[in-house]
This record gives sequence, structure tokens and C-alpha cells, in this order.
Amino acid sequence: MDTYTILNVIGEGSFGRALLVQCRNESGTYVMKEIRLPKADDKMHILRKEAILLARMKHQNIVAFRDSFEDDGHLYIVMEYCAGGDLLQKLKWQKGSLLHEDLILRWFVQICLATKYIHEQKVLHRDIKSKNIFLTSDGTIKLGDFGSACILNSSKAYACSYVGTPYYVSPEIWENKPYNNKSDVWALGCVLYELCTLKHPFQANSWKSLILKICRGSYPPLPAHYPYELHYLIKQIFKINPKDRPSVNTILSRHRISRFLKNFL
Ligand code: ADP
Ligand code: MG
Repeated sequence: MDTYTILNVIGEGSFGRALLVQCRNESGTYVMKEIRLPKADDKMHILRKEAILLARMKHQNIVAFRDSFEDDGHLYIVMEYCAGGDLLQKLKWQKGSLLHEDLILRWFVQICLATKYIHEQKVLHRDIKSKNIFLTSDGTIKLGDFGSACILNSSKAYACSYVGTPYYVSPEIWENKPYNNKSDVWALGCVLYELCTLKHPFQANSWKSLILKICRGSYPPLPAHYPYELHYLIKQIFKINPKDRPSVNTILSRHRISRFLKNFL
């Protein structure tokens, strides 16, 4: 703890706080997530999993892990600071003015590359949403918040059926079926739709009608000026049956998407 000086509180959640810190002998700034550890030992491993999984993820579009340690009943995770903030905030700042198709695809490709990497490591993120996607000062996308992530095929992964933020939860999860890689793809579709419209695809005044809309896959169409490719992708991703949804690899192999890929490989 003595290694870091706290500069600012940048986020507060149910877990604890996100702090902007400086390392004593360096000039760079980092984010330090401070997570209160419960007294009961049985829940500890769930919280520690976030640090363990983030430490394993080494990719240009994933928030870089630096350090983690425990001190006085707290778990601390030190990571790269994304000065550009999160995508949800960015979209709010647009104040209704739609993004250019090129920027949408440039961001979406990077989010897909991060997800492809995670899935190749046999990890599911389970909380992909615009609030958990960050931008660095040079405009690079970084996927963060591995607090809900899990390792694929472990029986525990399936034990907990509800994960994530209601707007982004896929039909199979509402039907108590197991979370799988295509459930992350569904959430990717929600983010892509948000980038195109600045709105959630599935919105309602009550839980009941939200779940109904999601399970029927009924969402307002994209603005007509977007290219066919975006309309097509959204339609494919929002297939009710996870088996009919494309994998991240399939999404990245689409012609219009792959044109943007060469900038990031
Ligand atoms: P949770 O969603 O579990 O509360 P997050 O890891 O998403 O925790 O962090 C909470 C908030 O802290 C984020 O919404 C964001 O505002 C801020 N934050 C977290 N990590 C970073 C980061 N690496 N760079 C910039 N801001 C961050
Ligand atoms: Mg978060």
C-alpha cells in the first residue's frame, strides 16, 4: 500500500472504490480497484478470481494488469488507467448526435478482438457493456472489469445463472440456461447497437416487458443510413438460439469488419 499515493476517487460501486493512484518512484498514473473482502472465507475466492483472471489477460485491447495485493481486509487490483473514460459516458456526451460508421467499426473491431482473445483463453467475460469498455488517451479501446468473468467448463460457471446487467442479458440466461460464449456475443450486439443508435436495443418500463422483448428479440430497427453490413450483423447477433448466433471469429471474418482489422493486428 505504501508504494502508491492516492490522487483521486474515480468510481464507486458495490465492491468498494476505484482510485486513481501514482506509484511512488514513477510518474505514471494507474487505477487501483479497492474491494472490501467479506469476513466469511467461502466468498473470498470469488473476489480474488477477478485479480487472477485479469493478471492472465495480456492483450492490447484489455486493460493491462499491474499488481494485486491484500491489506487490512481489502483486495487491491492495480491496472492501467484509461484516461478517455468509458464508452457509456462517451455516448452520453454525443447528446443524440450519431457516430460515424467508421468510428463505430473501429471501436467494435477492437472490442471483438479483446473478446476473441478472452474466449481463446477459455474465459467468459459475462459483463460486456459500454460501461465496462474504456478508452485510453490515444483512443484505443480497452475492455475492463473482470469482476464477473469465469473460466469456461468449470461447474461453478454454470452454477450461477444470473450475471450481468439486465439490458445486456441474453434470452438463454433469462431462461435459466447456461451462460456460454454466445451470451458474450449477445452483449457485443447490445454494445454495437448502442454505438449505432446511442440507445439500448431492449428497453422497457418493467422487468417483465424487458425480459419479454429480449426473449422475442424485438428491438427498434437501426437508422436506415447505416450500411447493410451493420443491419445484417445486428440481426445475426440477436438470434434467440445461441447456436444461430455468430462466434466472435465469424463476426471478425465479415468483409466489412475485416477491412478494419489490419489496423489493429
Ligand atoms: P464495477 O463495475 O464492478 O463497479 P469497474 O472495474 O467497472 O467496477 O470500475 C468502476 C468504475 O471505475 C468504472 O465504471 C470507471 O468509471 C472506473 N474505472 C475502472 N477501471 C478503470 C480504468 N482502468 N481506467 C479508467 N477508469 C476506470
Ligand atoms: Mg463495471
